[in-house]
Amino acid sequence: EATEYAQSLDAADTLAPLRQKFDIPEGIMYFDGNSLGPLTFKSREVLHHTIEFEWRERLIRSWNEDWLAMPARVGNMIAPLIGAPIDSVIVCDNTSINLHKALMSAVALRPGRTEIVVDVDNFPTDIYIAQSVADQHGLTLVAVPATDIIGAISERTAVVTATHVDYRSANILDVAGITRAAHSHGALMVWDLAHTAGAVPFDVTAHDIDFAVGCGYKYLNGGPGAPAFIYAAPRLLADASQPLHGWWAHADPFAFEVGFRPAVGINRYLTGTATVLSMKSLEAALEIFSLVSMDDLRVKSTSLTSLFIDLFDGHLAEKGFTLASPRDAQARGSHVALGFSGGRGLVDQMSSRGVIADFRPPDLMRFGFAPLYNRHIEVVELVKQLAAH
Ligand SMILES: *Cc1c(COP(=O)(O)O)cnc(C)c1O
Repeated sequence: EATEYAQSLDAADTLAPLRQKFDIPEGIMYFDGNSLGPLTFKSREVLHHTIEFEWRERLIRSWNEDWLAMPARVGNMIAPLIGAPIDSVIVCDNTSINLHKALMSAVALRPGRTEIVVDVDNFPTDIYIAQSVADQHGLTLVAVPATDIIGAISERTAVVTATHVDYRSANILDVAGITRAAHSHGALMVWDLAHTAGAVPFDVTAHDIDFAVGCGYKYLNGGPGAPAFIYAAPRLLADASQPLHGWWAHADPFAFEVGFRPAVGINRYLTGTATVLSMKSLEAALEIFSLVSMDDLRVKSTSLTSLFIDLFDGHLAEKGFTLASPRDAQARGSHVALGFSGGRGLVDQMSSRGVIADFRPPDLMRFGFAPLYNRHIEVVELVKQLAAH
């Protein structure tokens, strides 16, 4: 009966044809797109062309013919997914480095303030980076649970940073409330969109966000090591600076001037040479997003996660699994976490049968449901496998 219901949802799913864009191997059910999106046919084709034509034949000429423009061009493909205006997002480096740049910018824009506020349950790299920025400026890192962030913000706060969708629980933080609290105390706000971009709508403009960063290889499907992105509010750009004054951040990189002059726009957030192959793969994968709206993706995403939770109630709760994600679909990102004491072993065992999820200590099994390619029928199959453990 669950199977028939899932089949009817899949039959009515207008996004279903997009699965054809992905080269998911036969026999694999993939629930880890929140860690590494799968290969798209377009990425393979574009990488092949880049290697055989742009690199092999055109050689150094390709920089001027195409590659130099890539960070801005690919940034402009990500911008609409997060509500950003044109030329306010740039693709470069990784999320850790971009978070470092954003936090350093924010701290420099708020001289005299003594604290950085961070979500203590944030992904560890975000906390390490925030701590390192605090150490370099002699600031105090105030690390509190998400529910206490608003109360921890004061006139001492230079910047607040948190991740929109919690990497473990998929809990969606109160973007409007936290950002407003930061601004009402004169602090700046940096949102990490690692588990947001490509799966959950976000609007940096509507919420007047100061800085945002995010990953290229999760729901954006850019491939392993794909570069990350950084957004800076256009109103801040003239005054904002980041400390890594590499030549790509220069106003005129090919003038080879001795002194550093920052680029006028978002290019000042670049450092050095772009990772062309990874960026090509990301650019190719991003084409799919021009065919859909983030709102439609969100509807499908919540449909998948809600079905999983319904089936959890009926089949898994009685078998020792606990729900570690919000029941309220509006408060939940695109993955669902289950607590299970034998979780690590079970994830490994299912992986050997081609059902791929992941595990986060101490006992969390994470299942990513990517609206571009996952099907409702796969959710039913997943629950069957879990129930039969
Ligand atoms: C995945 C993830 C990262 C990854 O950072 P990298 O520097 O790209 O390795 C950072 N922050 C969060 C919240 C993440 O989920």
